[in-house]
Amino acid sequence: MDSTNRYTRLKSLSDFGYDINWEKLSEKKVLIIGVGGVGSIVAEMLARCGIGELNIIDLDIVEEVNLNRLFYLKEQIGEPKVEVVKKILSTVNPGVNINSFMTDVCSNEFEGKLDELIKQCNLTFSCLDNLPARLYINQKCVALDKAYVDTGATRSGLGGYIHLVLPRKNACYSCTGSLDLGSKEKGESCTASLPSTIAIIASIATEISLKHLLEFGKIPDYIGFNALDDVYIHQKTPRDPNCYVCGDKRYSKTEKESSLKQIQSITEGKSVDELIEELGEEKRRIEDE
Ligand SMILES: [Zn+2]
Repeated sequence: MDSTNRYTRLKSLSDFGYDINWEKLSEKKVLIIGVGGVGSIVAEMLARCGIGELNIIDLDIVEEVNLNRLFYLKEQIGEPKVEVVKKILSTVNPGVNINSFMTDVCSNEFEGKLDELIKQCNLTFSCLDNLPARLYINQKCVALDKAYVDTGATRSGLGGYIHLVLPRKNACYSCTGSLDLGSKEKGESCTASLPSTIAIIASIATEISLKHLLEFGKIPDYIGFNALDDVYIHQKTPRDPNCYVCGDKRYSKTEKESSLKQIQSITEGKSVDELIEELGEEKRRIEDE
C-alpha cells in the first residue's frame, strides 16, 4: 500500500473544513516513556497516523497479567516490551523510524541519553505507573523546557487523567499531579486495570498530541475522568508560582521535601481515586438539587 492510500482517510479531515497538514507528522519525533497499557496503544496509534520517529523506553517484559489489556499477545510473554512494540509497529508502518531502549528510565547511566531524547523530540509521553518516575520525568521536561503529556490511571482501574504540561505556561505535575502522593508514594504500580479505561486514556492522550504537534483544535490543560459515574472534567491548571519544580523560586533539597509534605497535607493524603470519586459525588449532589 502506498503512502497516499495509507493516509487517505486521515487527510479526508480537510474535506470537513479542518486545515490539518498531515504531511508534517512525518517530520515529528516523539518519546514514549513506558509502553505498558497506555504507552503501547499511543505508540500504535501514532505509528498508524504516520509519525516520523518513535522512541520508546521500558524495562519490563511482557507478562501474562498484561493480557487483559490491548496490544500484547500470549506468545510474546517473556519478551521485552520495547522489542515487541518495535517489531509489531515496524510491520504496521515501515515508514516510521523506531528506536527502543530497554532500561530503567531513572537510572544514572541513562540520564545523558534521556536528556538527549527529550531535547530532540517534539513531544514526550509519560505513561508510567509509579510516582518517583513521574516526578523525575516532570523535573526533566520542565528543566529542559519541553512539552510533555502525562497520563495516569487510578488504582481502581475506573478513572484516570491526561495532562499536557507546557513548562512555565501551565501547571506541571508537581503543581497538580502530586495528588497521587497518598497512594503511590512508595512507587507501587497499579493493582487493577480495565482495557476500556486504558484505551480511553491512550486515545485522549494521542488526540491531544496530534492537536499539539499539528497545531489544530483546542487542548484543555487537564482532563480527569471517573468511569464509574461517567464524569469527565476539563480543568484549567494555572501554574503554582511557588512550585518547587516550575516555580520562580529556587529551592534547596530540604525545602523541596517540605514542599512535598505540604502538598500531601493539602490533599489530606487522598489518592487520585478518592479525589475523582469525590468529583462524582459532587456532580450527583448538583444534579439532585
Ligand atoms: Zn510546577
